[in-house]
Amino acid sequence: MFIANWKMNGSQSMLSDWLEGVGKTLDKSLQKRCLLCPPVCFLSEASNIISKTNLNISLGAQNIDPNSFSSLTGGIDGAMLKSVGSEFVIIGHSERRENFKERDSLLLEKLKSASKNGLKVIFCIGESLEDKEENKTSKVLKQQLQIIKKVELNEFMIAYEPIWAIGSGETANIDYIEKVHKRIIDEVSSYQKEGFMGVSYGGSVDSTSSEDILSIKGVKGLLIGGASLQYQEFCNIVLSNH
Ligand code: PEP
Repeated sequence: MFIANWKMNGSQSMLSDWLEGVGKTLDKSLQKRCLLCPPVCFLSEASNIISKTNLNISLGAQNIDPNSFSSLTGGIDGAMLKSVGSEFVIIGHSERRENFKERDSLLLEKLKSASKNGLKVIFCIGESLEDKEENKTSKVLKQQLQIIKKVELNEFMIAYEPIWAIGSGETANIDYIEKVHKRIIDEVSSYQKEGFMGVSYGGSVDSTSSEDILSIKGVKGLLIGGASLQYQEFCNIVLSNH
């Protein structure tokens, strides 16, 4: 799966140009492997364009609020996301963990909200540069995966995103990605999780690195930030997968 995470970027016109461009460049079977996660305010419009123009692209939200906080000004829960066409939701992105101090207890509530509303989850994990340099990657990732055990999820994917690789222009090296993906797969599989869709890699992927990363054993897809904003570059990444 190719996940386009637009973060806090985009506009109505960018959305329609992007969907039109992807629709013209990728055939239906490749579109089926694409997931667009625009800012939440564009989900409804994206859903309308997708059904009007008969595209095969899925939609996801970049965040969800727990159902338990009904008096939460600005909050958006899973049912609302579903109602505007979202099939997936990203939970645990390092930018939210860092900027909004999202801890495991809150992430667990978010996972429950997604589960209750039938949303598929992309659960992000990743180590900092300091963790990596201190050889703590496995320990940190294992810890971040613990909350997956505590909730019955529908389908879910783990997105492995080394924090130091996100937006830095530096991807992790091939051996490192392979080794870490294997550990994550072994760990999650040991929980006997039925809806486990595999592990995607994220962190400065573009069309110059995507082919090599996609050929690594255990890499099921890519989570793409900056390089997903231009539809041509996003499509080049998708097309690099042989
Ligand atoms: C991301 O948004 O999770 C991401 C990996 O961003 P970028 O591709 O820009 O590093």
